[in-house]
Parts: sequence; C-alpha cells; structure tokens
Amino acid sequence: NLFNLLQETKGNIRVFCRCRPLNREEASSGYATVVDFETAKDGELGIITGGSTKKTFKFDRVYTLKDDQSDVYADASPLVISVMDGYNVCIFAYGQTGTGKTFTMEGTEQKRGVNYRTLEELFKIAGERKETFDYKISVSVLEVYNEQIRDLLATSPSSKKLEIKQAGEGFHHVPGIVEAKVENIRDIWDVLQAGKNARAVGSNNVNEHSSRSHCMLCIMVRAANLMNGECTRSKLWLVDLAGSERLAKTDAQGERLKEAQNINRSLSALGDVIFALASKSSHVPYRNSKLTHLLQDSLGGDSKVLMFVQISPTENDLSETLSSLNFASRVR
Ligand code: ADP
Ligand code: MG
Repeated sequence: NLFNLLQETKGNIRVFCRCRPLNREEASSGYATVVDFETAKDGELGIITGGSTKKTFKFDRVYTLKDDQSDVYADASPLVISVMDGYNVCIFAYGQTGTGKTFTMEGTEQKRGVNYRTLEELFKIAGERKETFDYKISVSVLEVYNEQIRDLLATSPSSKKLEIKQAGEGFHHVPGIVEAKVENIRDIWDVLQAGKNARAVGSNNVNEHSSRSHCMLCIMVRAANLMNGECTRSKLWLVDLAGSERLAKTDAQGERLKEAQNINRSLSALGDVIFALASKSSHVPYRNSKLTHLLQDSLGGDSKVLMFVQISPTENDLSETLSSLNFASRVR
C-alpha cells in the first residue's frame, strides 16, 4: 500500500494536500481560482501567485476535486490498520478556517469523514481477527482552547484543571478524563455526537469557537494476543486543528488577541516538533504546547503521522494558502 511503500524510503510523516471546491456563492460570482491541479497525480500542486507566475509545492499526495471522502480515507486506512498492530498514530488536519478541516475529519452524515471511517475500520479488523486477538477500544474526546484541556465527554464540568501526566512506562495521559468504552459502531456514533454537542455548550457561536480550538479524538486500542498472551496498547489521535489564519489587525485586542496568540503558539509548536522529528534532531520540543504534549506518544518514535493540509481555491485566500503550504513543506 501507499503508506508502507513511502515508509520504506522516507520517515514517518506524510503530508497530503486537499483543496475545497468553490462554494456556491463563489462559483456564481465567478471567483478566480488560483489552484492548478495539472500535475496533481505526481504529488505536485501549482499555485498561481499573480499573472503567469506559478509556485509549485510537492506533497505525498494531492487530491483533486474529483477525490471524495472515500478516496481520502483510503490513504489513512493503512495507518489505521497499523494501530491494530500496535503502532501509535496521529492524523490531523491543518489549515485556514473554512478550507474543509472539519469536512475531512468529521464529515457530514451523508459524507462521513476520517473519524467515523477510522472507527468503522477498527471494528471491522477486530471482528476479522477475533480468533487470535481480543481487542478493547475506548475513546476520549478533548478540546484544547487557550492552552486549557476540556473533556468533552465529562458529564459534569471538572473542578480540577486537567493536566498531562506521564505514566511509569512513559505513556502520556490525562488523569480524570472520560475514556468511553465502545463495543460497536453504533456506540461510536453516540460518542462522537456527545463530544460534538458538548463543544457547543457555553459558546454563543459554535463555528467561531470550534475554529479557535483544537478538537482531539483519542482512540486507545488494547490488544491481547489469545495465542501467546501478549498485550499491546496503542493510541490513535485524530485532530481537527484550530484555524491557522492570522488575526486581522482590527481584531488584535482583548480575548481575541489572546486566543490568536495561543493558536499561533501551539501551531508553531506542532510545526517545530514535526520539523525536529523529520530532521532527526536530538531534541524534540514537545513541552512547548498542550497540543504537542498531548500528542507526544503518537508523533515520535516509530509512530506514524499523517497531515492533511487544507486549502482554499480562491485568490482572496492566496496569502493564507501560501502560508499553509509553506508550513506543510517545512515539515515534509
Ligand atoms: P474548516 O473546518 O476548515 O473551517 P469546514 O470543514 O467547515 O472548514 O468547511 C467549510 C465548508 O466547505 C463547509 O460547508 C464544508 O461542507 C465545505 N467543504 C469543505 N471541503 C469540501 C469538499 N472537499 N467537498 C465539498 N464541500 C467541502
Ligand atoms: Mg472546522
């Protein structure tokens, strides 16, 4: 498969680029698109930066507008399978607000995204292997907002601040968070909905709030080998990151400024960590943000990482698009 093939020649980080289609309003008002998919099949994406000037970016994969949710999931699937073999995995979507991060990860009821398809596949594999393995799967849903962790499955608000601790074996966890045991795909849908509903509580604009916080799904897989009694534990993170756009100068004050600074800080911390891992640096600065600290187990070592860089096709968003593509090129 694609991932293992790439794995043989490169490190553990894959970067895939996905561009959203023009929306109805943009299409009807004849917006110019700056994206050139001509060499997409070779993993190249051209961006028209003005007149006839074009900048090209190289990725492990570039989706065209013909690729749908199942095409995108097909590339994540090998990683999901490796979770069942004991690997830690992290899959996340990066990009400006409105470019399809939530569409890729969460999707809609008709066009389900990576999160649901992932869990569906985990259960399918558990079923196929039930003669040889006993799998226990549990899910936590967290949000990181202004460097604070919030448990989206908690039934009552926690009185204590949630912190990241390191267990004896080096495993990172958040004591006190809900780990919902899930037995089948129906349970999953309920858990994902509960998390989503909790996200809305206490914010007057759900979309705005969700674009300024990281939404993080953690799937723990415990496998007992029925043949030799061996047990493994692996962790899969599925992350819908906060929007990467820079704050408009007019908004640069008060609460908005604080939010923006926290987002900037955590996204650059993520970039720094992945860059350090990709360049095999001896020091990886996980502790610089809650985001990277939480993801630590699933970023380093022999973990497998997949990043979706989401972009907009329009000229209006050109500078944010270039900034996202530059971020992605830096970590690849
Ligand atoms: P983000 O989470 O990055 O802010 P969303 O996922 O909310 O962006 O996407 C913004 C809008 O664009 C939504 O209405 C979404 O359904 C639509 N959209 C994004 N990507 C696609 C896609 N590949 N195909 C169809 N619609 C898309
Ligand atoms: Mg979103």
